[in-house]
Amino acid sequence: MAAVNASGGEHGGEADGPAGRAARRWVCPCSVPPVLLATVEGDRVNLKIRDRYYHIEGVQGRVRATCPRCGREHTLTLKGGATDA
Ligand SMILES: [Zn+2]
Repeated sequence: MAAVNASGGEHGGEADGPAGRAARRWVCPCSVPPVLLATVEGDRVNLKIRDRYYHIEGVQGRVRATCPRCGREHTLTLKGGATDA
């Protein structure tokens, strides 16, 4: 699997219908298993931080996250509703 590098942290976009709530895993592939940064459902970003869950809805634009293991920064681009353009 190709590494998700600096620009455009998107990979393996399945063509899910808008109604389909298929959560996409946003990961850093630096280790096995990959480090989960967040899950994405359409315009919603779900974050789990220790015992806490954050559901951020209506996200448009870019989300940046730094992998806690390798320190690499990842950028996820969301376009309000359209999962993958
Ligand atoms: Zn990493």
